[in-house]
Amino acid sequence: MRISKKLMMPVLALTVSAALLSSTLVNAAEDAPNQILFKNVNIFDGKSDELNNGQNVLVEGNVIKSIGKDVKAGANATVIDGAGRTLMPGLIDNHVHLTLNGKNLLDIEANMTWEDLAIGSVAMAKLYLEEGFTTVRDMGGTNGGLNRAIKSGLIEGPRVYSSGAFIGGRGGHADFALFTSRQGGDTNMSRLNISHEANGADAVTAVARNNFRQGASQIKIMQTGGVASLFDPWQLNGMTVDEIKAAVQIANDYQSYVAAHSYTKDAMLRALDLGVKTIEHGFMFDGDINKKMKKNGAYITTNLTAFSPLLAKIPALNAPQNQYKLKTATAAFGGYLDNVRKYKPKRGHQTDCVGDANACQSQIAYEKSLNGEFFGNHAALVSMTSIGGEIAKLSGPVVNPYPETTLGVIQKGATADILLVDGNPLKDLSVIGANPKWFDAAPRKGVKTIRIIMKDGKIYKNTLNEKVAATPAVTPLTKEEALANFEAFKANQVAFEKLSGCKGGLTDDKLHALHQVAEMH
Ligand SMILES: [Zn+2]
Repeated sequence: MRISKKLMMPVLALTVSAALLSSTLVNAAEDAPNQILFKNVNIFDGKSDELNNGQNVLVEGNVIKSIGKDVKAGANATVIDGAGRTLMPGLIDNHVHLTLNGKNLLDIEANMTWEDLAIGSVAMAKLYLEEGFTTVRDMGGTNGGLNRAIKSGLIEGPRVYSSGAFIGGRGGHADFALFTSRQGGDTNMSRLNISHEANGADAVTAVARNNFRQGASQIKIMQTGGVASLFDPWQLNGMTVDEIKAAVQIANDYQSYVAAHSYTKDAMLRALDLGVKTIEHGFMFDGDINKKMKKNGAYITTNLTAFSPLLAKIPALNAPQNQYKLKTATAAFGGYLDNVRKYKPKRGHQTDCVGDANACQSQIAYEKSLNGEFFGNHAALVSMTSIGGEIAKLSGPVVNPYPETTLGVIQKGATADILLVDGNPLKDLSVIGANPKWFDAAPRKGVKTIRIIMKDGKIYKNTLNEKVAATPAVTPLTKEEALANFEAFKANQVAFEKLSGCKGGLTDDKLHALHQVAEMH
């Protein structure tokens, strides 16, 4: 039977338009960016010293679309009732070492293969995310591979800004070769691009270029020595003007910057004059350094566990030459905490943990606590959020692994890296995992009071439906105890029992962990 053309046409037309209509609808649903509305939250925006209460925050895709009391979402949005909790930026640690996860640096050099270190790095990345850090800046050791795995979703972790291999001269703080090693010798750490001995401007140029080739977003130089290490005096102004210039030149060619491990005043002034943008540790920071930093738009990052009087008690410092190093360092670094408090430089937070994920968990919690204790909760939070975001931006538009992000702030158009926490971190840093105990801290996994961890618009943790204890089992220090800590840290002596909470003395485990910390400083 033949169907007349006349009859068929409307049927076809109807079918076609229905098909068009349904495909349009499907596309509209597929194309509509995923929306998540946080209702009724008090916002810490990364800068202000007060919460902005009773707000709604709409996340669309990976961006904060709007903020306000009356902000509403589309029909398909996921709505999360914050019930008056604090919504704040994901934390940023400006100085970590995800790859340095051996027992100590000697162990890494002598015994650890790329497999051991890679697996350890995966655990470290997970740890930092669980601790609320959605971005970390790796100050030596990590190349681009770990971040690629995180970015692709293969493993979970924060955004990683890698530095590639440390760069420093023979006998400096990047020289982790065995004491008996041949000059310029083939080391485990140089093969794995964790650390390179580089002597002369040409050698520095070659390593810096290789770092960027491997996925670095900035360059890390080891300008001065350390305290607990053997052949690098802390006073060593260990890189020549030409060597630093070479590092800065290559970094600038990639529109990025150089970070310098730097202790002494002379070294810091030299670094800043030559264009270094972040001073790591900076233990002889003072008014002159501050002036130059302000003029050059430079930053300092502080690791306060380095001042722990515990360091004086460890076997690594027993040798007379180390005791002398410690004595001279203590005298020279005495003004550090006071000067940082007085001049208020742009300051990033750093943990600088060397060790495996178990050892670093308590150090991360302790560093959060010391930051608040010494500089106040607001300054500590700013260093862990908006300042961290500014430092991430220093890597420029070319080698920044996340060039289109605005990190560390809660504002319209910022990247949706968000924490939702019980309580007010401006009043109590324990709600983001701070713990005034270090080696005697009870081991824990994650921070119970951080209920939601969102990175790039994706939720990695959500325990809003779980009934958990309102605050972690942490007893904040009294004002008197905090003051005593501050004085003790300044003097870097005795009182270690109180500071560490190590009532029963130091066990081998604790000494071991201390050894790892001390080796870096
Ligand atoms: Zn470091």
